Parts: sequence; structure tokens; C-alpha cells
Amino acid sequence: MTAVEAPASKLRKLAAIQDFDAVEDLLLESKLGFNCSGICLSAECNYTSGLQHSAELGYCPKCKANTVKSALSLAYRVEDARA
Ligand SMILES: [Zn+2]
Repeated sequence: MTAVEAPASKLRKLAAIQDFDAVEDLLLESKLGFNCSGICLSAECNYTSGLQHSAELGYCPKCKANTVKSALSLAYRVEDARA
């Protein structure tokens, strides 16, 4: 089992990979339903993929595990950590 990176850090990486200037822009597009992007949670892996909104976890072919989490799910986890 590889180390898991902090959700906030993964969110920033996902936004950068998807060419968004800010995490907020990435989340806004995800909320509007145009495109729900996900990123692998493994610290050594930055595999990204489109995800169904209802999908809790997506498959990462690099890690061969269900470790891809959607941007919105990551954002909720960041909010939880702040609460
Ligand atoms: Zn992975």
C-alpha cells in the first residue's frame, strides 16, 4: 500500500493538470456537471480520469486499484478536515 497524499494537495495538482487557474474553477465546472475530473490518491501517482458524478472511486490502471477520487469528493474531504 502506497502513501496517500492529502486531498488539498491532490486538488491543486488536478486543477493544474486540467489547466485551471484555481481549484475553485475546477470545482465549479465539476458542480455544473460539464466535466467531473478525478485524480489517483496515491502519493507517487498523478493519474487523472473523468468520473461519473455518482462514482465514489474510480479505477487507476497504474496502481491497479480503485484509488481515483473525483474533485468534488476531494473537496468534501478538505472541508471535513477544516471542520
Ligand atoms: Zn494511481
